[in-house]
Amino acid sequence: MQYHLNGFHSGDPELARTHDAESVGTEVDVAIVGCGPAGLVLAAQLARVPDVSVRIFEKKPGPLEIGQADGIACRSVEMFEAFGVADRVLKEAYWVNETVFWRPLEDGKLARATRIRDVEEDLSEMPHVILNQARVHDFLLDVMARSGKQLVPDYNRALAQIALYPDRTHPVEARFDCVDQPGETEVVRAKYLVGCDGARSAVRDWLGHPLKGEAARQLWGVMDVLAVTDFPDIRLKCAVQSADAGSLLIIPREGGYLVRLYVELDTLNDGERAGDRNVTAEMLEAKARAILAPHSFEVKEVAWWSAYEIGQRVCDAFDDVPEADRATRTPRVFIAGDACHTHSPKAGQGMNVSMADTFNLGWKLAAVVRDQAQPILLHTYSLERQAKARELIEFDRDMARLFSAKPQTEAEQAQFQEYFQKHGRYTAGVETTYSPSVITQAARHQHLATGQVVGKRFHSAPVIRLADARPLQLGHVLKADGRWRVLVFAGASDMGQSGGQVETLCAQLEAETSPLRRYTPQGADIDAVIDLRVIFQHSHRALDVGVTPPLLRPKKGRYGLIDYEKVFCADPEADIFDLRGIDRAHGAMIVVRPDQFIATVLPLVAAQDLATFFDAFMGADGS
Ligand code: FAD
Repeated sequence: MQYHLNGFHSGDPELARTHDAESVGTEVDVAIVGCGPAGLVLAAQLARVPDVSVRIFEKKPGPLEIGQADGIACRSVEMFEAFGVADRVLKEAYWVNETVFWRPLEDGKLARATRIRDVEEDLSEMPHVILNQARVHDFLLDVMARSGKQLVPDYNRALAQIALYPDRTHPVEARFDCVDQPGETEVVRAKYLVGCDGARSAVRDWLGHPLKGEAARQLWGVMDVLAVTDFPDIRLKCAVQSADAGSLLIIPREGGYLVRLYVELDTLNDGERAGDRNVTAEMLEAKARAILAPHSFEVKEVAWWSAYEIGQRVCDAFDDVPEADRATRTPRVFIAGDACHTHSPKAGQGMNVSMADTFNLGWKLAAVVRDQAQPILLHTYSLERQAKARELIEFDRDMARLFSAKPQTEAEQAQFQEYFQKHGRYTAGVETTYSPSVITQAARHQHLATGQVVGKRFHSAPVIRLADARPLQLGHVLKADGRWRVLVFAGASDMGQSGGQVETLCAQLEAETSPLRRYTPQGADIDAVIDLRVIFQHSHRALDVGVTPPLLRPKKGRYGLIDYEKVFCADPEADIFDLRGIDRAHGAMIVVRPDQFIATVLPLVAAQDLATFFDAFMGADGS
C-alpha cells in the first residue's frame, strides 16, 4: 500500500483524506437503487473514484442484519482484495477446503461416499469461503464510508418512478418515496441509473425486460441453526442424498458453531408463492432429521430461516437500449444482480454473480463520466454480463436436476459428484470468459502467455518487488481504482538494460503519441489512467533498480516523489513465467482491464497495436 505521496499524514492510511461528500445533491452522475451486494459493490467502486458523484438508495430503514446468501467464491475474494477488505473477510469467514458426499448404501443407510478438495490446486490464491451476506455488506459499506466521498446510503427511499429526458445533461429522473416520511418524495436527476433492486426490480419493470426462463419454481428451505448432532461431518460442506427422504446441503458457517442447511422442498405450482406452502422452521428441522437419519439432529436455536423459491430466469438485455439502436444510443439505465437473473442457491452463485455484474459496470461508468472513455464502452456491460447470466442459468439447471435426482445406481450416485468436481472452476468464479469486443481482443498472441487467457480474469502468481525485495501476489497490485494495467513480462535476456526490449518499449510509451501520454489528463501522474508494470525473469538480487528505464521510476505527486513499485522479478520458488505459461524467450505484454480481466496479450514489439487497442474506445469523443 502506498501513501504519503502528497505529504506526510499520521493515522490510519486507509482513511481517504479528500472529502467531496458535500457536493452531492439531487443531481448526480450515477444513482444506484438497492443496497444488496450488487448495489454496494458498485457504490464502493464509484466512491473511490474522484470526480464522479454518486448516491445509493435503499427502501429498507438500514443495513441488512441477517440471512440471505453466504457463499463467497474464490473470484469474489480476489475482488475483495482489490477493495482492500479480503483480509477481514478471510479472518471472519469459514473456509471451504473440502467437500464430502454422503449417499445411501445398499441397505439404504447413509454413508460417507467421498471426500474431495473443494478448490483445485492453484485455481486461485484465494480460498472459497462462507460468510453471512450482511457482513459482506458491512465491509462494502465500510469501503464507501472510508472513501474520499464518505458515501453512506440513503435509507428509507423506495424508488417509485423513472422518466427519461434524453436532451438533458442528467437525463434520468427518479422519484423516491420517503418511507420514513409518508407522503414525502425526493426527486433525483442522474446521468445514469443502475437498478440493483433485487428479484422484484422496479427498474426492470420500467425497462420492460421480463425475466424469461423456467416457469416451474423449486422451493427450498434454508436455515441457519445452532444444533447438536452426531452426524460427524457437520463442520464440512456436505451434499447429502438420502434413499427416500430427499437431499440436503450442509454449509458450515463462520464462528465455529453455526451451520446452514439447504433442504429441498417441493416444486411450486403455477401461480403459487413460497408463502402459500406455510413452511415453518419446524418443518425444515423435521425434514433435515429424516434425511440425516439415523444420525441425531437437535436444533437448539434457529438464527434465521427462509423458504426460498427459485426459478432459472434471465432478462434479454441489462440496459435500456434496444439491439437495433445500439449504434446510435447510449445506455442510461442498467439492471444488475437478481434484478436481471435468478437461479437456485445450490451453486452458491447469487451474491457472487451479482457483485461481478457491478464490478464489470462500475469502472465503465466512471471512465465515461470522467470523459476518459467513449460511451460505446457502456454497451459492453449488457453484452458481457447477459451472456454470463445465460450460461449460469444453464449450469444451474443441470446442477439442480442432478441434486434433486433420486440416485438409483452407483453410477448415478457418482454423477452428481463428478459434475461438482468438473465444474469446480466454474463455481469458483474463475471460468468467466468475455467474448471479443472493443475492450477484449481476439486472442491472436495467446501462445505468448498460455496461462493468462484473453477474456478471463488475470490469474495471479507470486513475484518479488525489485526495489524492496517484498514477495507478493502480482494480482494484488490490480486494485479497484478504475485504472488499466499493462503488465510487461520481459524476455529471458532482458534486465532492463539500454537497447533491450523493455527499454525500447518504455521509450515508445514515453512518446507523446503513446496511449499513456494521450489518455493521461493534463497534470495527472503518468500512471493515473494506464499503469505500466514490468516483471523480469532474473533474481531481484541480479537487477539494479537504478538502471531500469525512467518510465518505471515515475516522478509523481506534488513533490515529484519517485514511485518504486513498478518493477517485479520472478520468485524462484514459484516462477510466474512457468506457472502462467509465459514465453520465456519473447516475453509478453498483458493488458488488464480495471475489473482484472485480460483485454489482450501482445508481443513486446507491439507498441503500435497497444495504441490501436486503446484508441478504439478511449478519449471523450474518440480524439
Ligand atoms: P438483493 O440482495 O436482493 O438486494 C436488492 C436491494 O434492493 C434490497 O436491499 C432491497 O430492499 C432493495 N430494493 C428493492 N426494491 C427497491 C426499491 N423500489 N427502492 C429502493 N430499494 C429497493 N442466495 C443464496 O445463495 N443462498 C440463500 O440462502 C439465499 N437466500 C435468500 C433469501 C432471501 C429472502 C432473498 C431475498 C435472497 C436470498 N438469496 C440467497 C439470494 C441472494 O441473496 C441474492 O442472489 C443476492 O442478494 C443478489 O444481490 P442483489 O444485490 O442483486 O439483490
